[in-house]
Amino acid sequence: MTMVLRNMSHAECLAMLEGSHYGHLACCNDGQPYVVPLYFAFQARVAYSFSMPGRKIEWMRQNPKVCLQVEESPSKGSWKSVVLNGRFQELTDTDAWHEERLHAWSLLAKHFDWWEVGSLKPVDVPLATASSHLFYGIYLNDVSGRIAMQVD
Ligand SMILES: Cc1cc2nc3c(=O)[nH]c(=O)nc-3n(C[C@H](O)[C@H](O)[C@H](O)COP(=O)(O)OP(=O)(O)OC[C@H]3O[C@@H](n4cnc5c(N)ncnc54)[C@H](O)[C@@H]3O)c2cc1C
Repeated sequence: MTMVLRNMSHAECLAMLEGSHYGHLACCNDGQPYVVPLYFAFQARVAYSFSMPGRKIEWMRQNPKVCLQVEESPSKGSWKSVVLNGRFQELTDTDAWHEERLHAWSLLAKHFDWWEVGSLKPVDVPLATASSHLFYGIYLNDVSGRIAMQVD
């Protein structure tokens, strides 16, 4: 068995992102990287997600250059992985972002249990801030993908 590695086409990368709902989001602030697992929905070059306020949101507000990575490993020795570099954009509850926010909502609402995950915090969130749920998009700048396969 030989392992073969090839780059994925742009279209393959987008297709994989569209079919993925779980990945790792990396952001960076003041030279310190921060990576967290999260759910998202990707459509038309944007990965939408949902969050409570916290470190990643604060850091992405400070530095909107972020990276999203997804992978699949269907069998031992074979895998594919996509890395998206993009720009964080908060979808605020304002006229300017109204349509985009509704779009994000409708995509994410197809997987209602995401809300629970995105809402969880180790300590109780005071009711006063319970409405501070955030929607945001990662707008694709560039993307790369690699596939590793075992061939006879
Ligand atoms: C399968 C899965 C799906 C998830 N989906 C979502 C989602 O859709 N939306 C969403 O907002 N969150 C999701 N999460 C949770 C996410 O990974 C973060 O834990 C969460 O968003 C809090 O991040 P924060 O930056 O706001 O942390 P804060 O509450 O601000 O806490 C920061 C501190 O907690 C630590 N910390 C935070 N998260 C983690 C972690 N995951 N592992 C270890 N240490 C951590 C940091 O290192 C730092 O010390 C998901 C997690 C998993 C495993």
